Amino acid sequence: MVTLLDRYTSVKVKLQQAIEAAHREPKDVQLLAVSKTFAAADIATLYAQGQQCFGENYVQELAEKTTTLADLDIEWHFIGALQSNKTRIVAEKSHWVHTIDRLKIAQRLNDQRPEAMPILNVCLEVNVSGEPQKHGIAPEDVLALAQAVQALPKIQLRGLMCIPSATNDETILRAQFATMQKLLDQLQQASLVVDTLSMGMSADMPLAVACGSTMVRVGSAIFGERHYPQ
Ligand SMILES: *Cc1c(COP(=O)(O)O)cnc(C)c1O
Repeated sequence: MVTLLDRYTSVKVKLQQAIEAAHREPKDVQLLAVSKTFAAADIATLYAQGQQCFGENYVQELAEKTTTLADLDIEWHFIGALQSNKTRIVAEKSHWVHTIDRLKIAQRLNDQRPEAMPILNVCLEVNVSGEPQKHGIAPEDVLALAQAVQALPKIQLRGLMCIPSATNDETILRAQFATMQKLLDQLQQASLVVDTLSMGMSADMPLAVACGSTMVRVGSAIFGERHYPQ
């Protein structure tokens, strides 16, 4: 039987190989373990192996797991769609939010971030595939939103995030990842201090690393198949 630790080890090896193949440094690509729908006990198991960053998609699940695992020094990343009436829990419980797609959400997170907590790291979600059903802002709107978000005092703009087209076509994926890299360059040229490209999931992790990802978000390859509650 393949265990959680087997899968985790194999993802780490695969990531290492992708980093070497791309002539990049291990410290420049972080592994975010996407634990949505999986038990807090699985998170604790990986934490004991040195995994510190975990990604969650659902506000209620984030609230429960951060409470259950409050004793562990976990860095929590919120990577799900965020409605404005649910921002408070995220502002109080997470260290990163990857899915900012409008100023109003960023403003609420900024206003609700507790004074005693460190600044909240955020990425803008870009709809890089242009599919209408996808979340995220259009590439041409990235600079303006980045400048507005950057001005908020309790928030630190770190970079950009995307979910590319659901395809195995490497040419399409490469083009979309390249667009993300260009958008990040554009922000840097506009004197914004950004360093993060959040891209690459279980299916496209090596390609994303080859295309400049600094943070891969890997779920099923680590935790196994997801079963959503009915
Ligand atoms: C679920 C999810 C992931 C992980 O996807 P896998 O294919 O299971 O690796 C990554 N990013 C986001 C935004 C997700 O919702």
